[in-house]
Amino acid sequence: MALFDDLKKKVADTTQGAVRGARDITDSARYNSLISDEQKSIANMYGQIGKYFYEHCTEQVESPLKEMCESIAASNVRIASYQLGLQQIRGMKTCANCGTEIPIAAPFCSNCGAQAAEVAPAPAAPEKAQPEKFCVNCGNRLEPGAAFCLSCGRKV
Ligand SMILES: [Zn+2]
Ligand SMILES: [Zn+2]
Repeated sequence: MALFDDLKKKVADTTQGAVRGARDITDSARYNSLISDEQKSIANMYGQIGKYFYEHCTEQVESPLKEMCESIAASNVRIASYQLGLQQIRGMKTCANCGTEIPIAAPFCSNCGAQAAEVAPAPAAPEKAQPEKFCVNCGNRLEPGAAFCLSCGRKV
């Protein structure tokens, strides 16, 4: 009888172990997924903080935040020129009067009838540039490929 009880206990242990093992796997996956959700939420919030800040960027803003804002503004200018390049490849241009997209050779806008300016051909797409980076410690603009901040010495 003792042997049988022992066996029963062993089976129960194994079953419990297996259940715990399965639950651990489920819980691990859940925890990992929850952590990744929170990390995404943080990254998204960082983005929103930055966007809010950028939209409220004023002349009074001190360096290095000012330089970060300028970097965003410069990116937006480049994006606009790249979009112009894409539009020209599609053979289109935008009416300066109403914003409608019209064929590049059209002398007048098909929507508002305004005279459509001739567009200068966009320059060839430039090579990819390294994105600008700033030191997380002091905010100094980092040299491309630098391993350390030249201002405070923090490792990048
Ligand atoms: Zn128009
Ligand atoms: Zn630094």
